[in-house]
Amino acid sequence: MTFGTCRYCGQVVNLDYEEETQAEADIAASEKCECYDARHERNLRKQITAAQNRIRKIFGDDAAKLGFSPIAAEEPLQLLNAIAEQTARGFITSATINVRGLCKAKITMTTKEKIKVERSETKTYQLEE
Ligand SMILES: [Zn+2]
Repeated sequence: MTFGTCRYCGQVVNLDYEEETQAEADIAASEKCECYDARHERNLRKQITAAQNRIRKIFGDDAAKLGFSPIAAEEPLQLLNAIAEQTARGFITSATINVRGLCKAKITMTTKEKIKVERSETKTYQLEE
């Protein structure tokens, strides 16, 4: 299949190469199409990937470089990635989660339509007789 149909606008797109199935050709066409919705989706995905990279930097393994402890479990990171996606897609304007014993994570859509990723931790130490 060298032609696919864009799922956003229905336009038939010439792929210049061959995909094995029509379904794959349609996905490739939707990714290549220049219509508004296809371009919008590509921009959204770029924004989501960038936000997820920031999440990895300040909560994942890279956090140690910033002097923070990485979140060891995969689940909270997956949740943060999902929040970033829903924020980019406009379902959520902001969300804060408390990671037990570690930190607070906040993801916000700014007024400039940017996804802000924040980490905060407060250290307190108390001794009592
Ligand atoms: Zn299209």
